[in-house]
Amino acid sequence: MTSVVIIGAGHAAAEAVSSLKKHDFAGEIVLIGDEDILPYQRPPLSKKYFTGEIGADHLFIKGPATYEAAGVIQKLGRTAVSIERDNKQVVLEDGERVAYDKLILAIGTRPRPLPVEGSDLPQIHYLRTKQDVDQIRAAIKPDSDLLIVGAGYIGLEVAASAIKQGVRVVVLEAMDRVLQRVTSPAISDFYEKIHQQAGVNIRLETALVKFEATVDGAQAVLANGETLAFDCAVVGIGVLPNSELAAEAGLPCDNGIVVDEFTMTADPDIYAIGDCCNHPSFIYNRRLRLESVPNAMGQAKTAAASICGDDIAYDEVPWFWSDQYDIKLQTVGLCQGYDQMIVRGQPADRKFAVFYLREGRLIAVDAINSPAEFMISKKLVAAGATPDTQALADPQVSMKSFVSN
Ligand code: FAD
Repeated sequence: MTSVVIIGAGHAAAEAVSSLKKHDFAGEIVLIGDEDILPYQRPPLSKKYFTGEIGADHLFIKGPATYEAAGVIQKLGRTAVSIERDNKQVVLEDGERVAYDKLILAIGTRPRPLPVEGSDLPQIHYLRTKQDVDQIRAAIKPDSDLLIVGAGYIGLEVAASAIKQGVRVVVLEAMDRVLQRVTSPAISDFYEKIHQQAGVNIRLETALVKFEATVDGAQAVLANGETLAFDCAVVGIGVLPNSELAAEAGLPCDNGIVVDEFTMTADPDIYAIGDCCNHPSFIYNRRLRLESVPNAMGQAKTAAASICGDDIAYDEVPWFWSDQYDIKLQTVGLCQGYDQMIVRGQPADRKFAVFYLREGRLIAVDAINSPAEFMISKKLVAAGATPDTQALADPQVSMKSFVSN
């Protein structure tokens, strides 16, 4: 009997289990995860779970019955510490060895640590797990002061979720605009205004020097000497791929575990999927490491299919979403390197889309409360479409007309 061992019990792992079953995989599946909990969704951690609109029960990707029915051997709350490729075994922290025929690494990322003095104070938190959010929520009360370091998606989502609860929120950002790493100035300006209108104090081009304990809490010391007292701080300055396990086993890693289009590593018996892997993209003609649920799910399906003898190359257009206040951003593609930007609709209406083109070809779209623009753009970006830009800018022209042309 073939056995598939999956290390990491997050989004990609849950989908890998389902996909193996869909392919009628009849062998043994072993799921090893260092969090003592079945795979759950992380996106709500900074959104509806943070605000308390949904409870923990709504986080799980699949209920326990699904794993039981699939006969999954669960090793949760257990950390894999090494992979012995010669005898095809995974070694756990407590010394247990788990043999595999095929191994899937779905080990995700970890928050990038903030390299400043005082970042080990108990008031400083990162946000990756349910446990992290539970601790943050316990630390903030209405009328308390929350300091967020980093104006990326997680920082801004936490800001939106916290201010709704009557918390005073300050966001520190070293760059000159929010979301600088992932989007254009047009979208950054929109989000900066939205947050300011909601009462969030966004401080751009602000360098944090250190944290200090005070008599009744903690404070941040800025480069200009200013101090900001806070009850709780959340650091969201990006993540690092968990690739050490693979690297130590001699597998090539470069900003993630290097895989081919079938999610296979340099070892044909080991796959890597989700946030931890670096994969080729034929659409963008370069390697990518993505941090998104659709990517984790798509790669899990590819790995499961490949293990079951059905090689289908993974080459989906990246997409992602973010919910802040009443605004749903849906983004498709990667906008880096655009040479033309088209805005359709009015940011003031909180409903518009920004199209990014390179040499006339549509490479990415940010759609704000605009699901039709998003859905059609997924197809256009995948097809490398060269739409009429004047028509694109006109909200009276139906998005559907770009597909049929
Ligand atoms: P993970 O879900 O991180 O799972 C990896 C698991 O492996 C973890 O449980 C980890 O602890 C475990 N692990 C690591 N090393 C070991 C080891 N040695 N042994 C055992 N277990 C190990 N994406 C979107 O598309 N939209 C969003 O709106 C969105 N919002 C997000 C909000 C937050 C707060 C966060 C944190 C993420 C968000 N994401 C969002 C990103 C999305 O959650 C990730 O892309 C997705 O979870 C990746 O799945 P994964 O399985 O690759 O990794």
